[in-house]
Amino acid sequence: MRTVPPQGLSQFEQKTQKVYYDKHRHSAESHNKLKATPPTSPNTNMLLTPHVFTGVAIGASVQNPIAAVPLSIGMHFLGDAVPHWDFYSNTQKEERRKGWRPIAVMADLAVAIGVGLTATLYALWVVKDPALAINIFLCGIGSVLPDALEGPYIFTDNEPKILKPITIIQRNLQFQAPLPWGILTQIVVILASYLVISNSIG
Ligand SMILES: [Zn+2]
Repeated sequence: MRTVPPQGLSQFEQKTQKVYYDKHRHSAESHNKLKATPPTSPNTNMLLTPHVFTGVAIGASVQNPIAAVPLSIGMHFLGDAVPHWDFYSNTQKEERRKGWRPIAVMADLAVAIGVGLTATLYALWVVKDPALAINIFLCGIGSVLPDALEGPYIFTDNEPKILKPITIIQRNLQFQAPLPWGILTQIVVILASYLVISNSIG
C-alpha cells in the first residue's frame, strides 16, 4: 500500500508531511505485511530437557508401559502449560530457522537425548532391570513426541495436514513467561522430576 501526503496543504506543510510519510512508509508497509501474513504466533515450547526429565520420572515410577507411555505424552501438554521461556519466545518464523536459535535447539535436543539415554542405561546396568530400562526409554520418547511432530511446522512451510491439530493444540497450550521466570519454572520441573527419579530408582 502506498501512502501519499494529504492534499490541500501549504508547500512547507506538504514537504514536512512528505518527509514524515517517507520516513514512516517503510514501517507502515511492514506493519501491513505483518497484518497480512498468517499469525506468526510464538508457537514455542518448553525446552526438551525438562520434558524428558518428566518422561523419565514417569518411566521410573509407573512400571506399566501401557499406562506410563500415554501418561508421558499427556504430561508433555501439561508441561507446555507451565509458564516458560524458550529459544523461540517472541520470534518470527524466519528468525527461527537461522542464527543461533537452531543451534541452541540442537544443544537442548542433545542434552535431552543424553538425559534419556543416561537414565535408560542406568536402569539397565546399575538397577539391572531391562523392563524398567525399556519403560524409561519409551516414556522419554513419548515425552517429546508432540514436539517432534511439530518439527515440520517450525522448519518447513508445508506442514503435513495430519499434524495440524497437534500444532494448534500446542500453540493454544503454550504459556509464555519472560526471563528469568520462564527458565526458573523449567528448573523446578527438572528438580521435581529428579526427586521422583531418585526416589524410584536411585
Ligand atoms: Zn510441546
